[in-house]
Amino acid sequence: MTEREPNLFRTLVIYRPGARILKEFAMSESSITLETVEEVRPGADAHIRANKLPVMTGTDEGDLNCGKCGKTIAEKTTPASFRRKIQTDQRLIVECPCGALNVVPKS
Ligand SMILES: [Zn+2]
Repeated sequence: MTEREPNLFRTLVIYRPGARILKEFAMSESSITLETVEEVRPGADAHIRANKLPVMTGTDEGDLNCGKCGKTIAEKTTPASFRRKIQTDQRLIVECPCGALNVVPKS
């Protein structure tokens, strides 16, 4: 019977990291994976080249993630507040360091 206790302890240790993953998944539900396009339209698009990520950090709920590599391009930022900061009516393209051209949608 002395072997039961170590087994119970092991179960708890295994369970705890899983609970943390579930929490992170729930928190990322409001994050958006951006759609990508093949090319920038010169003159018609506002084009931002991101040298390092994230390009901005706000106070909103959810992140804007690259549609190709999945990295966070704008942290705690909605498409609306991203566009507000850039102040453009054009299609807004953020080029990720991975090379993907991500479109920040108009809301
Ligand atoms: Zn990327």
